[in-house]
Amino acid sequence: MEIKDYKEKFSSPFIKDAMKVHSDVRKFMADFLKEQRDFVEIPPVIISAITDPLNHPTTKSQIEVYGYKYELTKSMIFHKQIAMHVLDKIFAFSPNIRLEPTERKNTGRHLIEFTQIDVEQKNASREDVMNLAEDLVIYTIEKVLEKDNDILGKYGRKLKVPNKPFKKITYKEAEAKYGPDFETKLSKDADEPFWLIDIPIMEREFYDREDPSRPGVLLDMDLIYPEGFGEASSGGEREYELDRIYRRIAKKGQTPEQFKWYIEFAKAYGLIPSAGFGIGIERFVRFVLGAKDVKDVALFPKAPGEFYPI
Ligand code: AMP
Ligand code: MG
Repeated sequence: MEIKDYKEKFSSPFIKDAMKVHSDVRKFMADFLKEQRDFVEIPPVIISAITDPLNHPTTKSQIEVYGYKYELTKSMIFHKQIAMHVLDKIFAFSPNIRLEPTERKNTGRHLIEFTQIDVEQKNASREDVMNLAEDLVIYTIEKVLEKDNDILGKYGRKLKVPNKPFKKITYKEAEAKYGPDFETKLSKDADEPFWLIDIPIMEREFYDREDPSRPGVLLDMDLIYPEGFGEASSGGEREYELDRIYRRIAKKGQTPEQFKWYIEFAKAYGLIPSAGFGIGIERFVRFVLGAKDVKDVALFPKAPGEFYPI
C-alpha cells in the first residue's frame, strides 16, 4: 500500500462501518464472558521468551534487549495455560504478530498483525468450551443484529443467528468426503458455522491434548464459518502432563530447549488441566459484514508479503 491509497480507504463509508462493528463485537464478546460467565479479562502479552510455535512456518519476529531474547506474541497459549494458576476463567484481546508466508497474501483470511479473543477455562473439557464458544458466537451475532442491522442492510448482508448445537464433523470424515483441501469446500457448502473435531496429532502442536483412549487423535476443534469464510477459531483441551509433553515435542522433531521457560515453569509448579479457544476478531467482523477480505475490515491492515507505510 502507498500513502496515496489511504485516501480511498479512509474516505469510504465501509471502513467506518467496519470499525463500528469491530468495536461492538469486542464489547459484546467481553460483556458475555464477563457478565454472564464470570470470566476475567487479562491484559495481552506482547513480548515474551515463550510463544506459540504454530503448526506452520512463520518468520521469527525476535527482539533482543539487555542481552536477552524475546519474541513478539504469536498467540498467548502458554500464558493462558500458566494463568490457570491464578484465575479459573480468563480471556484476553490478544494482538498477535505472525509473519505469515507471502503465499497467504490473498487468502482473504490472513494478516500479519491481528487480534484474537483468547479464552481459557480451568478443568474444562472440550465439550464445555465448544458449548461456551457456541453461546459466545450466538450472543454476539444476536447483539450485532440488534445494534448494527442498518449497517448490515447497507451492504446487503443477510446474517442469521446460528442454531445450537453446531454440527460436528471429524477431520477423518471431512478428508474422506472432500479430500485434502476439505476446509474450503466444507465451508462453501455450509450455511451455518460448524465444528471440525478430532484433528490428527501431527497437524497440531504439543499443547493440544491427545485423547488418552484414542492414540493419535487430539481433543481439539476448529470452528468453521459457512459461505466459504473458512476458519473462525481453533481450540481444545490442553496437555498438562510433562512426560506426555516431552513425547509430543520429540514426535514433532522439536526440542525441549525451544520451550525452555515453559518447561522450567511446568517443572517448578506443574500445569493445570484446562481447555480454551481463540477467535480472530478481524475474521469475525469480515464474516458478519460478508466482506471479501480481512484487509478490508482492518483500519491499518498488514498483509503478508507487502509493505504498509502506516
Ligand atoms: P490459531 O490458534 O492459530 O488457529 O489462531 C486462532 C484464530 O486466530 C484463528 O482461528 C483465526 O480466526 C485467527 N487467525 C489466525 N491467524 C490469522 C492471521 N494470520 N490473520 C488473521 N486472523 C488469524
Ligand atoms: Mg487454527
